[in-house]
Amino acid sequence: MTPLPSRLTWKSALPGHVNVEVWSVVKVTIDRPGCISCENCWTLCPDIFEQNPDDGLSEVAEQYRVDGNPAEGEVPEDFADCTVEAADSCPVTVIFVEE
Ligand code: SF4
Repeated sequence: MTPLPSRLTWKSALPGHVNVEVWSVVKVTIDRPGCISCENCWTLCPDIFEQNPDDGLSEVAEQYRVDGNPAEGEVPEDFADCTVEAADSCPVTVIFVEE
């Protein structure tokens, strides 16, 4: 599959029309109770995954969370490959990626 660019921009040639920018993202979900803290995800993709300091389980980095939920995130396309790689490396398959 050909990766999408991180930002798609459409510019109208008609005067008075507004330019539209659409950022492509992938959705990621972590079934946190099933995490065994193997460290794979935050080692492979540290911009997106991190270890929660209280329970030691994986969580989505704060800036990419949906509604502040540490188990759910929206990832910019630039990090899609490492997010998928992290999901593939999870030994208990608790990371789900929706492209
Ligand atoms: S790869 Fe899976 S088991 Fe390992 S830390 Fe990440 S979510 Fe937890």
